[in-house]
Amino acid sequence: MGVGLLYHLAHEGWTDTVLVEKDELTSGSTWHAAGLVPHFIGSLNTAKVHAYASDLYTRLEEETGLNTGWHGCGAVRLARTPDEVDWFKYVHGILQLVGVESHLVGPDEIPALHPLLNVDDVALGLHTPGDGWTDPTAATNAMAAGARQLGADIVRHNRVLDMNQLPDKRWEVITEKGRIVAEHVVNAAGTYGPQLGAMVGLEVPIVSVIHQYIVTESIPEVLALDKELPVIRDPRASCYYRQEHDGLIIGPYETEGSKPYGVDGVDWDLTFHLTPPEVERLLPWLDLAAQRIPAFEKAGIKQVVSGPITHTPDAGYLMGPAPGLENYWMCVGASIGITQGPGVGKYLAQWMVHGQTEINVREMDPRRFGPYAPGRYTYERSLDEYHEMYQVRMPGEYREAGRPVRKTPLYETLDAKGAQWQEVYGWERVQYFAPDMKPEVYSFRRGSAFEPTGAEVMGIRERVGVADLSAFSKYWVTGDDAAGLLDRLAANRLPASDGGIRLVHMLTELGGIESEMTITRLAPDRFYLNSAIVAEHHDLDWLRFHIREGEDVTVEDVTNSTGILAVTGPRSRDVLAQLTNSDLTNRSFRWLTGKPIKVAGIECVALRVSYVGELGWELHHRLEQMVDLYDAVQEAGSEHGIVDFGSRAMNVMRIEKAYKAWGGELTTEITPIEAGIERFVDFDKDFIGKEATLKRQGEDLAMVCVYAELDAADADCRGNEPVYAGDKMIGITTGGAYGYSVGKSLFFAYVHPDYSQPGSTFSVRVLDEARNAVVLEQAAWDPDNERLRV
Ligand SMILES: Cc1cc2nc3c(=O)[nH]c(=O)nc-3n(C[C@H](O)[C@H](O)[C@H](O)COP(=O)(O)OP(=O)(O)OC[C@H]3O[C@@H](n4cnc5c(N)ncnc54)[C@H](O)[C@@H]3O)c2cc1C
Repeated sequence: MGVGLLYHLAHEGWTDTVLVEKDELTSGSTWHAAGLVPHFIGSLNTAKVHAYASDLYTRLEEETGLNTGWHGCGAVRLARTPDEVDWFKYVHGILQLVGVESHLVGPDEIPALHPLLNVDDVALGLHTPGDGWTDPTAATNAMAAGARQLGADIVRHNRVLDMNQLPDKRWEVITEKGRIVAEHVVNAAGTYGPQLGAMVGLEVPIVSVIHQYIVTESIPEVLALDKELPVIRDPRASCYYRQEHDGLIIGPYETEGSKPYGVDGVDWDLTFHLTPPEVERLLPWLDLAAQRIPAFEKAGIKQVVSGPITHTPDAGYLMGPAPGLENYWMCVGASIGITQGPGVGKYLAQWMVHGQTEINVREMDPRRFGPYAPGRYTYERSLDEYHEMYQVRMPGEYREAGRPVRKTPLYETLDAKGAQWQEVYGWERVQYFAPDMKPEVYSFRRGSAFEPTGAEVMGIRERVGVADLSAFSKYWVTGDDAAGLLDRLAANRLPASDGGIRLVHMLTELGGIESEMTITRLAPDRFYLNSAIVAEHHDLDWLRFHIREGEDVTVEDVTNSTGILAVTGPRSRDVLAQLTNSDLTNRSFRWLTGKPIKVAGIECVALRVSYVGELGWELHHRLEQMVDLYDAVQEAGSEHGIVDFGSRAMNVMRIEKAYKAWGGELTTEITPIEAGIERFVDFDKDFIGKEATLKRQGEDLAMVCVYAELDAADADCRGNEPVYAGDKMIGITTGGAYGYSVGKSLFFAYVHPDYSQPGSTFSVRVLDEARNAVVLEQAAWDPDNERLRV
């Protein structure tokens, strides 16, 4: 991981760099890895990272003269159940988008690819011919040579002992061989990542887990082959199988009972270290492996390789800025680092050098985990992710391990009403309410949540709904220079008067959409900000790190102490009017304004905003008063048929309203121009990213955001489905849902501008089935905002 970064920083022009290694390169986890480089992955952006590895490993020799040991043997992953089949179809679409060759193959086609497999229970395979494996040491050395050729430095046998930040924000790194002062530091210490982080007060959410693979003696059936076998990934045995000479390497990811490693710290003196083999722990999975490859049953075991792999609570790595620290970066936590090192290096180098990457990195950003994560949550979730390595992750499924971390006071009340929970940034949030109280039957198609979600949507549209929206970030930005700071950051005009609310976007210097926030001005020097909960630390750092020397600005994060109750729908005014003396009429309390009021005797900042596109208020209040407020709203709402609703209904309704979402349609690799939100941008003032955004205005665009209707069967768009015009791929979906209020399956997509006009048609491959789509001119629901202004 570290060498991958050094190499790509050099290619980005940063060669005044040094990689400090306590022993030899690869002496941590890298040297003993099996070297597999899988293309199959259920995330678009991580798939780009994975695909880049085989690209780099196959061309490094030309650049450096060093062979990386690449074996382009291809791979087949096996599916047995209908859910796995749907998942494979979804991933097949992602791989088309990334440009990775992949084929869905029937069980009858698999023996021709791998003659030793028993495919009796196999329903489908996904064949990725460009997949393969490499020699981790050779690949690392080739990247190191490439970095050195360009002027980067590598100092071996030199342990980092300590780090301190200097007053000018540079870092002093104390090593065994002396002191280095650097503008930027990167933690790429593998299993030592948490210990290196602790030197600067960081709690790094990583737990290492021991992984073992066995190497067999020669197997006659393998010896007899005339070409190398593809790598197989088998969910039943939770194993990978790859050929090693005339034997096999078999690596099980135990689905239970795995062992953590070095939780209390790893001895600094360990090097080229292996943990003691415990092959008996693997037996249940090796038995299944023998059923899959009968030739393995009689094979002898030559070697067991057992070593630690870093895992994070969501199986992703930590790539990007460390929370709360300037110029300190993370490049650590990879569970398949031989695969991920090159791509992480490439995109992290872009981020460090240019302030922005060409892919969406939110799922990789270390700040996606907050202070809640270190400890039990990281421990339980990381082990669970290890166990689930080869299992299908269903839409809407949130694993139980490590939860709950953070519940609002309404948790028990809502749970008793059949709440189906999800975890976001540690918070428990309701997805929907199951009237039969039964857990969701997950599906890639319209599943058991479809009907109840629709009932919530219609209840809000026709009457009124109430929801706990506390899982949003909340900050007070105050002081004489607060307006100046926000004005500099926001591409949009700030609210001009007290009580005004604006939706604003904050951009990078390159014009990428970095943040989206709602800003309410309560006084000229007092602003209240709300943004997505996963952005809590990200946005906090963005705000704080942009305060200039001597400016009078305080940013206070009140996320944990503030509850939000949303009351929305045509009868919301009638409900709230029973609970407050404040005038809620349209004349006194207009749409997009906010003010302090008392509701049921509880002090609230009431914001007249509605993400679902109806008359409504968000009541921001002290979290501990939430139950009283909710009970009062329920009581007043009962005669109006009030419904509880969750995040699924909210997502449906924002799509019916054609509201774009941060992280979905609005991401850092997109400017407001492609996103079609330039009407929010105020080019008459200065803001970060203005120049780049103006320039983009005059350029030919590769893609623009469209809002469209799908001729859906039993599955709606989820996002990351490929869009085709005939055989030509012209775009990608970013999110979708069935719009119950309008009887249409709706979605957003980025498509080539030739297909962006209303009425343009194309097809979307939803679960590998081409479905027709047509671009819509305006929001499917209330395009003129009449229901918001009443
Ligand atoms: C048995 C096994 C099989 C695996 N198979 C695969 C596979 O097939 N495919 C795949 O993609 N991945 C595989 N992995 C995972 C892969 O090995 C790791 O994800 C990867 O090696 C992590 O790389 P890294 O650079 O983060 O860590 P490391 O390789 O551990 O590098 C971190 C380096 O930091 C150095 N360091 C730490 N602290 C300091 C300090 N204070 N000062 C100076 N230097 C320091 C260490 O010495 C070390 O060299 C496997 C792992 C295991 C255990």
